Amino acid sequence: MDCLFCKIIDGEIPSTKVYEDEFVYAFRDIAPIAPVHVLVVPKTHICCANKIDSENSVYVSKIFEAVPKIAESENIESYRIINNCGDDAGQTVKHLHFHLLGGVKMGWSKDSLGKTE
Ligand code: 5GP
Ligand code: ZN
Repeated sequence: MDCLFCKIIDGEIPSTKVYEDEFVYAFRDIAPIAPVHVLVVPKTHICCANKIDSENSVYVSKIFEAVPKIAESENIESYRIINNCGDDAGQTVKHLHFHLLGGVKMGWSKDSLGKTE
């Protein structure tokens, strides 16, 4: 399958791994927007959050079980998890992934939604 993150999981494309288990692979984002910016992905191809179902949701629970371990190894207690689902949300890689962001005090404004600049 021609999927960037499947190739990263398979080691065809190099990545900086921070965590791996039977279900989960986590690696550093190539263009970080925070001091800690890790992508946490299922080791099976799920295109996006819209395709999570009872057959594959074990991958999602395993991802969220891995998050505290990753946060601890990254020395962050506070973090934000973001999933972009679909084009309007800004999903550019069509393999389910959760951005784990930390290491900086982050703002939160609903006003930022809908702005593309
Ligand atoms: P999205 O915009 O789909 O939510 O997030 C995709 C993320 O993948 C982006 O933050 C982008 O920087 C990251 N990314 C794209 N290509 C690569 C790559 O080849 N390696 C790594 N480590 N990250 C990538
Ligand atoms: Zn994939």
